[in-house]
Amino acid sequence: MVRTTGVWQEVLANGERISCRVRGKLRLREEETTHPVAVGDRVDIEISPDGIGTIGTVHQRTSQLSRRAAGKRRSVEHVIAANLDMVWIIQALKKPKYNAGFIDRVLVMAEYGDVEAGLVINKMDLAREAHPDERLQMMVKTYQEIGYPVFQLSAKTGGGVADFVKQLRGKRSAVVGPSGVGKSTLLNAVQPGLGLKTSDVSERTKKGTHTTAYASMYELEGGGEIIDTPGVREYGLLNMEKVALAAYFRDINLYADQCGFANCVHDHEPDCAVREAVERGKLSVERFVSYLNILDSL
Ligand code: GDP
Ligand code: ZN
Repeated sequence: MVRTTGVWQEVLANGERISCRVRGKLRLREEETTHPVAVGDRVDIEISPDGIGTIGTVHQRTSQLSRRAAGKRRSVEHVIAANLDMVWIIQALKKPKYNAGFIDRVLVMAEYGDVEAGLVINKMDLAREAHPDERLQMMVKTYQEIGYPVFQLSAKTGGGVADFVKQLRGKRSAVVGPSGVGKSTLLNAVQPGLGLKTSDVSERTKKGTHTTAYASMYELEGGGEIIDTPGVREYGLLNMEKVALAAYFRDINLYADQCGFANCVHDHEPDCAVREAVERGKLSVERFVSYLNILDSL
């Protein structure tokens, strides 16, 4: 499935895009999930004489990226994309400024859904030579040390984009980020001809401005696929047990099994190997603070 507009799903079958409905029995899962089919899903369809398809089966996913649904259905899982190799979290140096809390929330859901993840810092052309952003460089180093690749680039000038494009070859990647970070501009730079609409931050507040509400998958000329996802202001986590959270922070998880208590959540317990590692400078304080913030929200 390459695109959804809610009721209609676009399915790529033998190179042709078929508009499909979803068979009723698949909708039974709608109590747990916003939608039975996600972009990237492998599906079986039946095509009726009028050319309209019906999705009857959704195959088991190898991985998925999800978040908590927004609005009225807040307890429900929203699967943004399925069967992914990689998710790139797009942030900007400024306008809007990068946000470690956002990054860590997506990373948790990527680990949860078995998707590899990396970070892109866009709008690096706005950096002032005389004042390198030290906080950013510290943050970049932290993520690289944990094992998440980081690219700093400018979609506008094209600087650094070629290196990023190499990472996309032959893989299925999704891009996620808050709106305004330059996701559409970046995808247009990655593949001229995609023609995604971009908009000024100032235009966004105007009535009638409408940004993508659903994810779309595009084939890349060099091989591979990219999935554009709607900008989200907040990336809500699925509800989970507090004790489960540390497993999705791969750096924190390295120490978690050395704690004195098996069900340690690393915020108040004595004999906590995680807090000790933070104190000894082996774990990033910022990541630990992020962990505590998320823990608090569960
Ligand atoms: P999206 O909401 O993430 O898809 O963001 P857009 O691609 O629509 O871009 C939002 C705004 O940021 C637009 O005014 C773009 O021109 C601007 N923008 C995007 N990339 C860059 C960049 O690398 N540098 C600068 N200075 N502005 C950028
Ligand atoms: Zn602990």
